[in-house]
Amino acid sequence: MSTNIVIAIDGYSSCGKSTLAKALAQKLHFIYVDSGAMYRAVTLYFLRNHVDLHDHAQVAEALKNIHLNFHSRDYQTHITLNDEEVSDEIRQMPVSDNVSDVAALREVRHEMVKQQQRMGRSKNIVMDGRDIGTTVFPDAQLKIFMTADPKVRAERRYKELHEKNPDVTLEEVFENIAHRDYQDTTREESPLVRAEDAIILDNTNLTPDQQLQFALDKIHALSEP
Ligand code: C5P
Repeated sequence: MSTNIVIAIDGYSSCGKSTLAKALAQKLHFIYVDSGAMYRAVTLYFLRNHVDLHDHAQVAEALKNIHLNFHSRDYQTHITLNDEEVSDEIRQMPVSDNVSDVAALREVRHEMVKQQQRMGRSKNIVMDGRDIGTTVFPDAQLKIFMTADPKVRAERRYKELHEKNPDVTLEEVFENIAHRDYQDTTREESPLVRAEDAIILDNTNLTPDQQLQFALDKIHALSEP
C-alpha cells in the first residue's frame, strides 16, 4: 500500500491555485507540480511547429517529440521543453490564447495524465490544475476546488502580466479567462468540474495567508480521529 499524500487543487483560470499550491508545498515540504504548465508547454511546441489540431496523427506524432521536465528547486515552476527553459514564454498571451484548445485534445490529455500520475506515485505532492481531483488522482487525500469572482481574477492576472508586458490590456485578460473557463468546463474530455468530495474555496475576499490557513486547517483535520 502506498503511503504518499496527494493534495489536489482544481478550479477556474487565474483563481490563485498555484499561489496556494506553492505555499502548501513549501509549508509541508511536498513536491509542487503545476499541471497547467505542462499543457502550456505542449501548446508552445504545437504553435512553434504549426501542428494541426484537427490532424490526430500529427498530434500523436508531435507528442512523441515532446519531453517535459520540472525543476522545482524553489517551489516556483521551472519547466523545460526538450531541455529549453520555457517557464516565462508559456505565460505569454499566444500560449494562453491557444492552450484550452490543445488541452481539449484526447491524445494530449492521455499523455499528460499518464505523466502526472507517474509523478505522484511515491512522493508527497501538491498538484494544481483542472482535473486533478477527478481524473488524475481521484483518491487524493485532500481535494480543494477554487473559485473567485471573474473580475477579481482578471485584475490579479492583469497586474502580474502587465509588469512584464505593458501592452497587455485588462479587457484582453478578462476575455481570455472567460474563454478558458468556458472551454475548460464544456469540453468532452475530463471537463473542469468539482469532484464530489472536493472542498470549495472562494478566495475573492481572502488574502494568500488566509487561504493557506484555510487549507492547512483542512489538512490537520484529516489526521484527527
Ligand atoms: O493552470 P493554467 O491556467 O496555467 O492552465 C492553462 C490551461 O491548461 C487551462 O486553461 C486548461 O485549458 C489547461 N489545463 C487542463 N488541465 C489541467 C491543467 C490545465 O486542461 N490539469
